Amino acid sequence: MQNRFIDLFSDTKTKPTPGMRKAMAEAEVGDEQKFEDPTVNRLRDRVCELLGTEDAVFLPSGTMANQIAIRVHCRPGEEVICDRTAHIINSEGGGPAANAGVMLRGLDGPNGVFTAAQVKAALRDPASRYNPRSRLVSIENTSNSGFGTVWPLETMRSVSQVARAAGLALHMDGARLCNASVKSGVAAKDYAACVDSLWLDFTKGLGAPVGAILAGTRDFIHESWRFKQMMGGSMRQSGVIAAAGLYALDHHWDRLAEDHANARYFAEGIANIKGLAIEVERMETNLVFFDVVKPGWSPVKLVEACRQRGVGLGANTATRIRAVTHLDVTRADLGVALKTIEDVLAA
Ligand SMILES: *Cc1c(COP(=O)(O)O)cnc(C)c1O
Repeated sequence: MQNRFIDLFSDTKTKPTPGMRKAMAEAEVGDEQKFEDPTVNRLRDRVCELLGTEDAVFLPSGTMANQIAIRVHCRPGEEVICDRTAHIINSEGGGPAANAGVMLRGLDGPNGVFTAAQVKAALRDPASRYNPRSRLVSIENTSNSGFGTVWPLETMRSVSQVARAAGLALHMDGARLCNASVKSGVAAKDYAACVDSLWLDFTKGLGAPVGAILAGTRDFIHESWRFKQMMGGSMRQSGVIAAAGLYALDHHWDRLAEDHANARYFAEGIANIKGLAIEVERMETNLVFFDVVKPGWSPVKLVEACRQRGVGLGANTATRIRAVTHLDVTRADLGVALKTIEDVLAA
């Protein structure tokens, strides 16, 4: 067993680097709620420039960004169209129902990427008093449970056209928008132009310890501040963590290409291990999903055996494991992880 735990459980496992910690320690701060924190304000400006939006609000988490956006866009009883694998359906504690009183309509898009035709078919008759009212389309880019797939810009544009023509708003869960942009070469701004609100997560591949930022029109962000307050998300001298976000945008965005290359290397290694099954070509970014097919083994059993030998993985479903590459794992670490998995399964 190697000395250092190699944690492929998630890209949330990154720890702030010495450079990031230094930036945090030196951050100029003030009361964020009063717009008096210069570092938070710089981050807001920076993100607006990056996404081509009018305004942005700094938040403790991406989950809160989704919750606030849904709350601002929708009224109780209305319906949000998204993929059936979406984080807002499966991983936010039922928040959309509790916080906004909305229904969620899950589409079956291959790899989490649905089409304009699917949206069109899901639109409710606005004249009917029996239907919930279709109000919002939510797009997850990259799609987490869809193998980290990048939304093709053309698909997003056509979904946007159909939704806007029907009077719906669009929201983007950009937990890994940075990965999508680095992989496709499409500017984040171009994706952002397809939606009315979107957010970036600083705690995934970008490697910051806390924080997400929600962006949109001035009116949308003005309303968002109200629900940030209501949900208990208001902060004070949060420049300390916004500095980590600024540092991440400067130093950790472009390097995501390395995580993608490492994920491909890892996926190819998994394909060569007996007892596992993977579709290597499906893994576009930093998320690697594979099935445990060896008789007598389950993801839970394999994850536990690997954990004891210093390698962290995530049991994603009853048959599937997820491994994620990030800032804190090197190519050499992945070699060690592959060897560990192979040895565990062979024992
Ligand atoms: C992680 C994640 C979120 C939530 O972000 P947090 O900052 O962890 O709250 C939302 N959507 C997707 C797709 C995610 O992967």
